[in-house]
Amino acid sequence: MAILLTGAAGFIGSHTAVELLNAGKEIVVADNLSNAEETAVENIRKITGKDFPFYKADIMDENAMDRVFEEQDIQSVIHFAGYKAVGESVEKPIMYYENNLGTTISLLKSMRKFGCSRIIFSSSATVYGDRNPIPYREDMQTGIGITNPYGWTKYMIERILTDAAAADPDLSVVLLRYFNPIGAHESGLIGEKPNGIPNNLMPYITQTAAGIREKLTIFGNDYPTEDGTCERDFIHVVDLAKGHLAACEYADEHKGTEIFNLGTGHPVSVLELVNAFIRANGVDVPYTFGPRREGDLPAYYADATKAKEVLGWEAEKTIEDMCRDSWRWECHCRSLSEE
Ligand code: NAD
Ligand code: UDP
Repeated sequence: MAILLTGAAGFIGSHTAVELLNAGKEIVVADNLSNAEETAVENIRKITGKDFPFYKADIMDENAMDRVFEEQDIQSVIHFAGYKAVGESVEKPIMYYENNLGTTISLLKSMRKFGCSRIIFSSSATVYGDRNPIPYREDMQTGIGITNPYGWTKYMIERILTDAAAADPDLSVVLLRYFNPIGAHESGLIGEKPNGIPNNLMPYITQTAAGIREKLTIFGNDYPTEDGTCERDFIHVVDLAKGHLAACEYADEHKGTEIFNLGTGHPVSVLELVNAFIRANGVDVPYTFGPRREGDLPAYYADATKAKEVLGWEAEKTIEDMCRDSWRWECHCRSLSEE
């Protein structure tokens, strides 16, 4: 019996594949490589020394998914596949709704045909919108003040999966709301590969340290936070990956829908992260303060109690680990591009 990971050539999925294989699970990977490279799949094999089937397939293609379910004995699905760039989602909303919702619906249909009844979904803290008090708890109202189509896709998919589970007493749905995943595998072989100029903070920091970007602009230093910069719940991607193992085990034992925040439960400011990166790696990151970025919330972080109590999972790695591992990954990418 295997776990199907959609989108596992990508950042979070590849780390989850490694953790599942290390825990002795069988996996099957499907990804259309729209935002990833096949070397990530090879590197999952290299890190773990284990093999698994890889399907280069579009999850929206129901026939292709049926073939995967026909050929493999799939017990549960972890659904990472989707588009994730907030800015791009504002420019190309239909593309985002089509891919993110379309992959989920085609998966649910194939799962039903082949009697697979467990799905774990990559949701996001963005569903909490902009009105909830911090820290965010799973029972808070979602959907108020979501400001972009990407966030709406996460909200809508949570709804679709919850409705599907309400209608089918056999179905197990686990919604994982990620906070800000950064870091990389300590081998330096897998990590986050942004397309073009990074939008997210950590890839911008590593590229600035590597000299690819001249300097980092910290968006806003007049927020009502301790040092005036935004605060986020940065979580090491390997910790996040381990949360999926716990979620799979939970889904094996429970029906219906359950929601878990995957965060550390501790806010760290943008400036703190930059300084931690400089300290941990002994490299310079030139930065300047710029205006606030539209749509950014001053601060948010997870109440991580439920995942600890129910799943027995909590984040273990430090900000220094995140900074060191992100830098090792950047150095690995640089060494490849220089070859
Ligand atoms: P990623 O882009 O690195 O990985 C997503 C993978 O899905 C890519 O490998 C891409 O090729 C694949 N994919 C996309 N559409 C596909 C399709 N139609 N068929 C097959 N494969 C397809 O992103 P990630 O950072 O690893 O994120 C994984 C999931 O977690 C996404 O759903 C994302 O929205 C969600 N998430 C990410 C973050 C974050 O900060 N990285 C935060 C919250 C939620
Ligand atoms: N940020 C920044 N400069 C950058 C990119 C991001 O100051 O070049 C800040 C951003 O304003 C936010 C935090 O870093 O406060 C995290 O942003 P990111 O895009 O990584 O994740 P988000 O919290 O938006 O999901």
